[in-house]
Amino acid sequence: MTVIIPKKEYQTIVAAAVRFANTRIPEDDWLEVYGIFIGNIEGEDVIVSKAYPITHQEKKPEDIIDKVYWSTEDYELFSLIDDKAFSEGNFTIGWWHSHPGFKVMMSQLDVKTTLSYQQNNPKAISLVFNPVRLIRQVELPEKKGNPVKQLKNDPGFKIFRLDNVNRGIEASYHEVDYRIDGYENMEQLIKQTQKFIIDITNFFPRKDILDRYSKFVNDKINELNSKLLGTEEYLKTLIRKGEGHRTQEVLEDQVKDIRRFVAQTYINIENIKEFMDYLEFKEREKVIPKVKEILSKWDEKVAQLDDKFTELANKF
Ligand SMILES: [Zn+2]
Repeated sequence: MTVIIPKKEYQTIVAAAVRFANTRIPEDDWLEVYGIFIGNIEGEDVIVSKAYPITHQEKKPEDIIDKVYWSTEDYELFSLIDDKAFSEGNFTIGWWHSHPGFKVMMSQLDVKTTLSYQQNNPKAISLVFNPVRLIRQVELPEKKGNPVKQLKNDPGFKIFRLDNVNRGIEASYHEVDYRIDGYENMEQLIKQTQKFIIDITNFFPRKDILDRYSKFVNDKINELNSKLLGTEEYLKTLIRKGEGHRTQEVLEDQVKDIRRFVAQTYINIENIKEFMDYLEFKEREKVIPKVKEILSKWDEKVAQLDDKFTELANKF
């Protein structure tokens, strides 16, 4: 049996996990995230079609590792996802969660959770991901201080299944083979994903996401405005100094510089759009329309750019 995971769904797991456990957050505040898999069975294989982030830990002092609470909303949305999957000939084929900064294995609580999935679907799987394992290519020991195990080309996770559901929470478990589709090889996967983790760390905050993106867009608009204003001032100065013959050349250079800036910003904007796929399901309805509104301000600004350049060219 092999579990087949598309690149996009692998990235979803990485993004959701890193959002709550990265170098911008003190390690003590790292939180586990929890999601589900939708997909299908083909022969012996489990084909993942979707990985949905559902929720994250709310650390309460009395909590133990792996304790994750689902809200009523989470359960309601989960049944929506499950119904939609069913209408498309798919179903819930397991769950995934993160062990931020600690060993990839199944705790007793994880066995219990996996049991409930496997009781509903004998082929259900449980994936455990640790971003640190991927970044540093090491397996962390169960006890702090014990030696780490060096890994090579490791995607940061393992997939497990229980051996015998009838034994309940006493069930033992084993690892399952997997394949991640969409990369040329594992080296490329590791390289791309390590870079992806940097983007997520810098640009997909766990809180105040709207404030963050709003500030980003406003800053970029201000920067663009000052570049345009600067260009105009520059051209005026040239005329004043009797160097009108240079305005054409200078304008061309300035336009090139501004277009480079716009292209660079475009990459960030595209990242933000992509990151919307990695939100927890309950956030989507609230966050996505607002982010679209924020980004549209930038689009409007850029749409006026050609007219602005023509205006400058005519003026000088
Ligand atoms: Zn766990």
